[in-house]
Amino acid sequence: MFSEHEKSRVGDSADGREASIVRMWGMVEGFGEPSMNIADCGRGTVSVRAGEEQPLSLRAAQVPIYQSAAFAYPDFESWQDAALGTAAGDIYSRISNPTVAVLEEKIRVLEGGEKAAAFASGMAAISNALYALLRPGDRIVSITDNYGGTSKIFLEFLPRIGVKVELVRTSDADALNESIARGCRLVYLETPTNPTLKIVDLTRAITTAKSAGALTLVDNTFATPINQRPLSLGADLVVHSATKFLGGHDDAMGGLLVGRCNLVSNVQHFRDINGACLSAFSAYLLLRGMKTLELRIARQNATALAMASMLCEQTSVEEVYYPGLKRHPNHAIAARQMSGFGGVLSFCIKGDFEATKRFLNALRLAQRAASLGSINTLAGVPRTTSHVECTVEERAALGIPETLVRYSCGIENFEDLEADVLGALKHT
Ligand code: PLP
Repeated sequence: MFSEHEKSRVGDSADGREASIVRMWGMVEGFGEPSMNIADCGRGTVSVRAGEEQPLSLRAAQVPIYQSAAFAYPDFESWQDAALGTAAGDIYSRISNPTVAVLEEKIRVLEGGEKAAAFASGMAAISNALYALLRPGDRIVSITDNYGGTSKIFLEFLPRIGVKVELVRTSDADALNESIARGCRLVYLETPTNPTLKIVDLTRAITTAKSAGALTLVDNTFATPINQRPLSLGADLVVHSATKFLGGHDDAMGGLLVGRCNLVSNVQHFRDINGACLSAFSAYLLLRGMKTLELRIARQNATALAMASMLCEQTSVEEVYYPGLKRHPNHAIAARQMSGFGGVLSFCIKGDFEATKRFLNALRLAQRAASLGSINTLAGVPRTTSHVECTVEERAALGIPETLVRYSCGIENFEDLEADVLGALKHT
């Protein structure tokens, strides 16, 4: 089934690339080595081509959906070789699937990691990573401003298995570094944070973690590898809710983990057994979305900055949170570690929650929806979005105002979004 050339590539995973990528090309004859190293190309080229450098099966121009749970072999011997890993080949889609493998390769190159693994959702990626890497008695250090679902794992589930969790106030960088320096197994960071767009100094936290012998895992969902590459700053692992900017169309759930080969393999093994795999169809949708990642992010960065600046001038708006604003308390750190400030901003409507509700109901263009990172502009409040799992008291303790609107810029024209927001503000 495989040519000599393909077989010779099977064990060639020194750079962390999995043989599964090679599997896609099994039926294509006469292809050569890639003529250029895609990883060295611009971000737009990487978004389009990474993982797809070689001709695809049956000369398809786009990655096919391998909608098959199992893979069939012409004889027992070749099946056994694939099952034992001595030859390339997929066996069962809970373990590997050719469409999913291309997605894994694309994010691996975009983030600059050794290996990547895909999951059914962002939370599946986060929880599988934490459960695979932590043991009873381990100590983990993180921040108070993680995405609400992640915070639930820290506060509700990890303590049940005897993991000691310390969550430090995100804005207290000194306390965070002191806590890491006391020693821990894992430092878990999210920056910019959801929904108040706080910034963690990645270089500082990662340097302290390395001295303390701790691993660092960064949720890069808000930034995307177009705006921020934590692995290049020394992080061991990066996690994404691919449901957001990576997929970008609000039509598929997914999670991705990228980083050091041995760590990702460890988590992938846990995923394979626990069954948190990504479906081929979702992988296809996410791949299709990722091709336009650089274009979308450039537009969304620009729109968010313009929207944040415009909102700062409005008397009906109390506070605007966006790391691209010079007045953001960590603007200098953001400017150092990010090449764009992202497509999400948040702001507080002056008045009570009723005024915020009136604003949301008066929006005509932005959708009232829980997600972010879509081509459609989405607006919501923490009680129905990022911190739906928390009580009013828990949100207050986290410093998340009930009147906060999270606004995720899509790719519509700024002038139309501006008119929509200004029109809705009149109702507050
Ligand atoms: N990380 C961040 C920063 C998020 O905003 C979310 C979801 O909103 C997640 C992780 C979880 O991702 P998913 O909804 O794909 O499980």
